[in-house]
Amino acid sequence: MLDPNLVDNLLAGDKRALARSITLVERSGPDAQVLLQQISPHVGRSYTVGITGPPGAGKSTLVDRIASDLRNRSGWNGSSEAPKVGILAADPTSPFTGGAILADRVRMQRHYKDPGVYIRSMATRGSQGGLPRCTRDAVKLLDVYGTDVTIVETVGVGQAELDIMGLADTVIVAVVPEGGDAMQAMKAGLMEIADLFVVNKADRPGADAVVRDISAVISWDTRPRDWIPRVLSTKAVEGVGIAELVDAIAEHKDASEQSGLLARRRSERRKRELFEAIRNDVDREAQHLISSDPTLSNLVQQVESGALDPHTAARSFLQAILHPTNSP
Ligand code: GDP
Repeated sequence: MLDPNLVDNLLAGDKRALARSITLVERSGPDAQVLLQQISPHVGRSYTVGITGPPGAGKSTLVDRIASDLRNRSGWNGSSEAPKVGILAADPTSPFTGGAILADRVRMQRHYKDPGVYIRSMATRGSQGGLPRCTRDAVKLLDVYGTDVTIVETVGVGQAELDIMGLADTVIVAVVPEGGDAMQAMKAGLMEIADLFVVNKADRPGADAVVRDISAVISWDTRPRDWIPRVLSTKAVEGVGIAELVDAIAEHKDASEQSGLLARRRSERRKRELFEAIRNDVDREAQHLISSDPTLSNLVQQVESGALDPHTAARSFLQAILHPTNSP
């Protein structure tokens, strides 16, 4: 049974309620469903920044620096107070949340005295490629808890990079001067999703050339767009270029609010979430039917043996789900 005070405590900005809620959505299950339903009317205030890029590009260092910078500015959303910041690190290398705790501790060192920063790592191994659904749910929880900005950090391993589009209002792609990162990023389709490119480790040789290369590729695309991606360089360890990066995030936010891009992205996101939920429900229903209905398990066996083609069988399954009484 869901703690009846959980949502109220979350809305009141209680960190323990937030931690418990995130654990609930990580585990999934009926309580998580109820919780997500209950918070749904309160979601939509916080601004989400996604950062992706290859391991070692300096994402965690950048995120720490961005958070510190945000905590030292006012004027976000027109408020005189510094924005409250949430950091979610989706860690696909960690099999359990337990494995992510060490990373949390390391990160916490910089911000542990600051009640305006909430940091949480989430283990994402085992999810079907890319960002797990619980990351998106955790972003909603942070929103309801009261963050003004939530930064989601993912290691760029394939699908996760593209999935970040599904939850971020501003997408940052971080690369380093060496190793052909920038070329890789372009090949992997990151050109399409980046609102801001950051060439980090600009203290190393070649950074200017990479900035020029990426800028050139961006300039080749002459389609009319609401936003032309920016290219910035940073030295995250020294904190150089961070204020400019946060300015660029704020400019992208303002521009997308004004052009309607933000509203469009968010509606697209809600639609995608609906279709994902439909797919999950249909899948679950099909699994249930297969295990409980001998006729359907028989269909599976026929497909396995090659006697029946999967598409014909799939149509029969769909019939059985939609019209349970007329199942074959
Ligand atoms: P992540 O794997 O992308 O999260 O990268 P990290 O933030 O953990 O950084 C990887 C390593 O690069 C760490 O040792 C950082 O100290 C170092 N690093 C981060 N930013 C810079 C930078 O601007 N210059 C240099 N030389 N090293 C950096």
